[in-house]
This record gives sequence, C-alpha cells and structure tokens, in this order.
Amino acid sequence: MTSLWKSFPVYETMNQKIKRYILHILYPTKCPVCGEIIDFNDDFCSVCREKLTMYEGSYSIRGADGFCAAFLYDGNISPAVMLLKDGICGNADFALGNALAERLVNSGIASEADTIIPVPLHKKDKRQRGYNQSELIAKQVSLRLGLPICPDAVEKIRHTASQKSLSQSERITNLCGAFSVKKPELVSGKRIILIDDVCTTGSTLAEIAKLLKENNAAKVYCASCCKTELTD
Ligand SMILES: [Zn+2]
Repeated sequence: MTSLWKSFPVYETMNQKIKRYILHILYPTKCPVCGEIIDFNDDFCSVCREKLTMYEGSYSIRGADGFCAAFLYDGNISPAVMLLKDGICGNADFALGNALAERLVNSGIASEADTIIPVPLHKKDKRQRGYNQSELIAKQVSLRLGLPICPDAVEKIRHTASQKSLSQSERITNLCGAFSVKKPELVSGKRIILIDDVCTTGSTLAEIAKLLKENNAAKVYCASCCKTELTD
C-alpha cells in the first residue's frame, strides 16, 4: 500500500517543510504504531502500513451530506490513535491526517468543500491534554487539501460525560446543547468538512452537523480518521 497523498499538489510551504525536517533531525520521526524511526516524509513504517485496514464501508451520519473515514478502527491502528489521545502525539497527527486527506480526495468530498472545522473539545479537556487532537488532524488535512481551517467556528460549551458506556439514545441526550456556533459568519453559506478522530455511532458529528445546518451551512460532510465497527 503506497501513500497517494505524496502525489497531491503541495500546499505546505517550503518553510513548513523545512521546519518538519529540522524537527526530524532533533527528534527523529517515528512510526506512530510501532515506534520505528522512519523518513520525515513517511507516515507509517512499511510493515505497519501493510497491516492497516482502510475503511471501505458506507455509513450515514444523521443530517450530514456525506461521510468518509480513512481506517477501520482495529488493534493495528489503535496505537496511533492512543498516541494522539494520550497527549503524546508524536507523528500520529501527520500520519492520520495525511491518510484522511487521501480518503477525502478519493471520496470526492475534498473537491466539494471549502472549509474545514474540527470537532471542538471543552476548554477544560483541551487544557488537560494540551491540544485538541481533532484540530491537529484537521490542520494536516488543511495543509494537504489547501482548504482553510476554522478551529474557532464551533465551541463546546458544556462538559459532557464520556460517550463510551452510553447507548445510542443516551449519547444523543448527553450531547444535546453541548455545542455552540461561536462565529456564524464562518459557517453561513459554507461547504464544510467536519473532522473527528474516531467515529463510533456518529452522535457527536450528527449533533454538530445539525447545529451547522441551523446556522445556514450549505453542506456538511463528516470525516474521521477511524470508524469503529460498532453501530449499536
Ligand atoms: Zn510501524
């Protein structure tokens, strides 16, 4: 399996590329799955890349105009997702973001969109982790696709319980009114790609998609790096 993103037009500036290279000299780039040192332009090592399963299924997010995911969430990709979520990150945002950009191009969504919005974290959670993992991925996708990213367009205004142990209906109730559009002018009339790290039932993406449509978004496409098989 080769990385098609390398043949994309380069929207990353030379300065950004040089910065990545210098970082690589100081802190060698590692495969986010196994930790093997890789080239600064590589996302995964070739051994891990071969084991990853691309997400080929079709899934609908309520209220959205389309959905795509790069990988099926399984034990082969989970170490990269854990790196991203545990506040270590490493090369995980680069690898997962590039894979998602590739998927967005192949699915046709990239050419239909004009703005990228990451799923926001509550400010307490963002402070604790030090960053929003969906925003890091969205930044990579933005660099690859040449689309602007609007991380401040939507905010999470209410802290919510973890969705993990909740049923589908409980997840929807849990998220009700949790998000707000902070900058309606960045949403109105826009064709938006809404980006999350992992999609389980899609409740979070659906809640934000509904909000974006209420704020006159022209289109809302949802995208996640990984999609779980759970659809309960
Ligand atoms: Zn590896």
